[in-house]
Amino acid sequence: MTGSSASFSLATLLLTAFLSAQTSPPPDVLGYKDFATEQAKTDQTFLAVPDAKLAGEELKILTAEPHIAASPEDHKTAEYVASKFREAGLDTSIEEYKAWLNLPISVRVQAWDANGKLLMTGPSPEHVDSNEPYQNDPRVTPAFNGSSPSGDVTGEVVYANYCRPEDYDKLASLGIDVKDKIVLCRYGGNFRGVKVYIAQQRGAAGVLIYSDPADDGYYRGDAYPHGPWRPATGVQRGSVQYLFKYPGDALTPGIASTPDLPADKRLKPEDAANLPKIPSEPLSWHDASPILEALGGPEAPREWQGALPFTYHIGPGVKVHMVLKMDYQYRTIWDVIGAVAGADFPDEWVVAGNHRDAWVYGAVDPNSGTAAMLEAVHGIGVLLKQGWKPKRRIVFCSWDAEEEGLIGSTEWAEDHVNQLAHAVAYFNTDVGVSGPSFEAAAVPSLKEFVRDVTKQVPSPKGGTVYDVWKKNQAEAAAHRHGPEEEHAARDVAAIGNDVRIGDLGSGSDYTPFIQHLGVPSTDIGSNGPYGVYHSVFDDYAWFVMNADPTFVYEQEMARVFGLEVLNMADADVLPYDYVTYGKEIADYLDAAQKNAKDAGMSALDFAPAQAAAQKFVLLAQQVTQKQEHLDDDSTAALAALNTQLRQVEEDFLSEQGLPNRPWYKHTIYAPGEYTGYAAVVIPGVNEAIDAKDLTRAQQQMTVLTDAINHADDTLESAAR
Ligand SMILES: [Zn+2]
Repeated sequence: MTGSSASFSLATLLLTAFLSAQTSPPPDVLGYKDFATEQAKTDQTFLAVPDAKLAGEELKILTAEPHIAASPEDHKTAEYVASKFREAGLDTSIEEYKAWLNLPISVRVQAWDANGKLLMTGPSPEHVDSNEPYQNDPRVTPAFNGSSPSGDVTGEVVYANYCRPEDYDKLASLGIDVKDKIVLCRYGGNFRGVKVYIAQQRGAAGVLIYSDPADDGYYRGDAYPHGPWRPATGVQRGSVQYLFKYPGDALTPGIASTPDLPADKRLKPEDAANLPKIPSEPLSWHDASPILEALGGPEAPREWQGALPFTYHIGPGVKVHMVLKMDYQYRTIWDVIGAVAGADFPDEWVVAGNHRDAWVYGAVDPNSGTAAMLEAVHGIGVLLKQGWKPKRRIVFCSWDAEEEGLIGSTEWAEDHVNQLAHAVAYFNTDVGVSGPSFEAAAVPSLKEFVRDVTKQVPSPKGGTVYDVWKKNQAEAAAHRHGPEEEHAARDVAAIGNDVRIGDLGSGSDYTPFIQHLGVPSTDIGSNGPYGVYHSVFDDYAWFVMNADPTFVYEQEMARVFGLEVLNMADADVLPYDYVTYGKEIADYLDAAQKNAKDAGMSALDFAPAQAAAQKFVLLAQQVTQKQEHLDDDSTAALAALNTQLRQVEEDFLSEQGLPNRPWYKHTIYAPGEYTGYAAVVIPGVNEAIDAKDLTRAQQQMTVLTDAINHADDTLESAAR
């Protein structure tokens, strides 16, 4: 401890020199009466603390053993994170929930060609020829899909590319159906649960999902242990939960699965809409290759060809027998929660989280994020020891069982609905660091906030995180061609040549916050070539070889993540940018109107929603004036204004939720029913247009218009 505080003061000096030489804090940050004199000093003190070397040590401890959710090793990591939270002075507890989880007892896939010759028996163990120190641990589970049922099925194989709706449609147009067959999908293009969902809808008996070297293997670059890409036996585990229906514990949608929840409040597994009915199993390309090579029938389309050294065919010609024995049980999971009381606005919560559980070691996914969070907490702890008190309550969360379906975060959010009605932000990081390229997604009201934060953090490459981020995006845009180039040009025009920030779809723990409860959210990460996702090889050895050998990007992420928390917790007025939000909604409506016209649905009336969105922009401009020039800055007046500002996001929720998936209540953002991870904007309207259902589209347009009108009313009173 003494050693680290000595190096801390030296680091402060160096960083202060660095910051004044390379970056000057933005003089004017939305939400602060006087940022430069009030907050900039606190921020600099914070920024000096996150330590690259310590982050590396924390990562090594977190990833020492496989720690799948609900395992004894997972519990050990919970205790470790709790001890670090306590060390920093956070009020810390471990909150337990029960989750309906499967672990494999045994999994077997066998394939025969048309002559009955055995082609393969899998899954093969993951192995590379090297002194890889982690691959042979007996606690590594065989590859399997979370939420897959047990099953014993036999069928002809059909190759269906990425198993997107358009791929299944292509098969249908060739006169091939997948009924009673085993569908062979490659990873990519959508969420794996969607691949299974469509296969189930079309009557398939089972699904195999493999990693093609074209997508994350040798075709992209050197494979591990020679480079970052997926080796032959590397398998992508993963959940196939239908999370676009609802995430979290499958048997308790909408309510918290606390240990004492009575059994009659829980669904029967057969009634759970987010559990697949057909078995699925992930494979390496090593195991999928003999199946693909032996498939006969028509040649697969050009775009369906992968990087294996033969021409891919659709089938028939190969028969597969899958036998999956799953052990489903209610298992205990552990969320670690560490809080700091708020001095001025104690009911306004700033929540920040990252999951801790991993399919195996999880060096990148998720513990690079955990190490960054721990160093952010370290920085907050130093401020607390100097007597600093945040204006708002800060809550750091280390989620469990994210991999199985965002379970720890969803159950906790469902458990704290009343308090989260006052939560002013949720900041997420999952894959914290897989390389040097910073990226972010956010609700529109927080996009400028994320940019402001990154303008204060130095990049290991010189300048600020923001500068490097902007340069990377400009270079990427210059390399795009065709429609992608047009798309990029439109984006640049729309945001005035600023860095582009994505929309929140799903696939990580912000989902319950933004899409179920309407808490404004962001998600950040630092990316690079990363082919070992969800395999045994996502371990500490891979990380130091490929992602961040000196942990300087861990330090960068700790600073950005921590500064998000700090600048939200200490703002006088909530720094939401509703002008951007209104413009984005207006753009979504224009795009949907064009789609409706193309779909022959010109009768769909967009005018009331468009008028509401335009009014939103005008009112938001007035509110921005008020955020920037406060005439009454008493705590009571600020609290009242903040309550109204926060209410706007909640106004976007609809009581009844989306059609057939009432858990998703946000009218502007949802994960797509047929994409899974990627966001669908104004989802009620757009999915009805996709389904060419005019009645539903008109009904959803009314729901959307009501929501925007509510938000307009709130903005109007905030502007007064
Ligand atoms: Zn993750």
